[in-house]
Amino acid sequence: MRTDDDLHMGDIVELKKLHACGGNQWEVIRLGADIRTRCCQCGRVVMIPRRRFVRLIRARRSRSQHSEEEQ
Ligand SMILES: [Zn+2]
Repeated sequence: MRTDDDLHMGDIVELKKLHACGGNQWEVIRLGADIRTRCCQCGRVVMIPRRRFVRLIRARRSRSQHSEEEQ
């Protein structure tokens, strides 16, 4: 079961949208009605409405993957 809306602070996600610098990996740094996310390539912080953000996710590289495997 996929829970695309299940975001956590510190998650690294790959978005379908490229940043102006060419990077497409973003770190989630704040959750809310708007997601605050930082471009992993240039460090720029942007805010994207949550519903729009989850639609833009192409892949996720959650740092908590290991703990899920242990269970
Ligand atoms: Zn960037």
